Amino acid sequence: MDSHFLFYVPPEQSRSDHIVFPEEEAHHMVRVLRKRAGDLVQVTDGTGNLLEVRLTHADRKSVTGEVISRVAIPPGPDRILAMGVIKQRDRLEFAIEKAVELGASRIVLVHSDHAEKTGIRPSRVAATILSAMKQSRRCHLPAWEERDDFKSVLLDYGPGRQVLMAHLSSEESGLQDPSAGRSNDAPSLLLVGPEGGFSEEEIADAVTAGAGEVSLGSARLRAETAVCALLALLECR
Ligand code: SAH
Repeated sequence: MDSHFLFYVPPEQSRSDHIVFPEEEAHHMVRVLRKRAGDLVQVTDGTGNLLEVRLTHADRKSVTGEVISRVAIPPGPDRILAMGVIKQRDRLEFAIEKAVELGASRIVLVHSDHAEKTGIRPSRVAATILSAMKQSRRCHLPAWEERDDFKSVLLDYGPGRQVLMAHLSSEESGLQDPSAGRSNDAPSLLLVGPEGGFSEEEIADAVTAGAGEVSLGSARLRAETAVCALLALLECR
């Protein structure tokens, strides 16, 4: 059994014991990984199901298989990342990819006050998230959304969660971690600013919403580095 790769089928497909793989997955299986009928593969539907599938047919046009076993994988911690939109697409996609690997359960892309105005290509974001889920062998596909208003993010996702704001403060250096001592699994809303940082108003709103400020050291990190550092702080503790 090849447990190195995790393949994806949409949830409506995974209910059946007879799997027809989506075209892109079939392409990867046959053209790149040279899979054949009889091979065993692992498959998720992104809703927590991990399937073991024996391929019944594999050619360049289509790949099908029979489900051998199903396991329900519990979801990871409720960990929402709200990050200011990064203008450069490759760096935004890097941040999204790493966020998924490091356990973000939802990604909110915020056109915050100091974020540079830029458009987001939903298909690219969705593809980045899907591929990062498979790569990191996670079985829950993080949801994502775009918001224009930072305050609405705090109102919708703050209540019931520990709110942690990555904040570069001139007075403090080194690691300040207001979440220390709390359970790793506590539901959380993580806030990372765009390249221009958070506005004073956004910082005030976050503090009103109960946010604790997290320093990630005295150096000024790029937004995507701060995303990685903040999530790693929780994921690796
Ligand atoms: N121009 C801004 C920096 C923005 S960096 C300024 O000078 O304040 C982008 C985001 O990364 C910040 O809004 C913050 O959320 C996070 N960040 C960067 N470095 C950080 C650090 N050392 N500690 C905590 N957060 C940091």
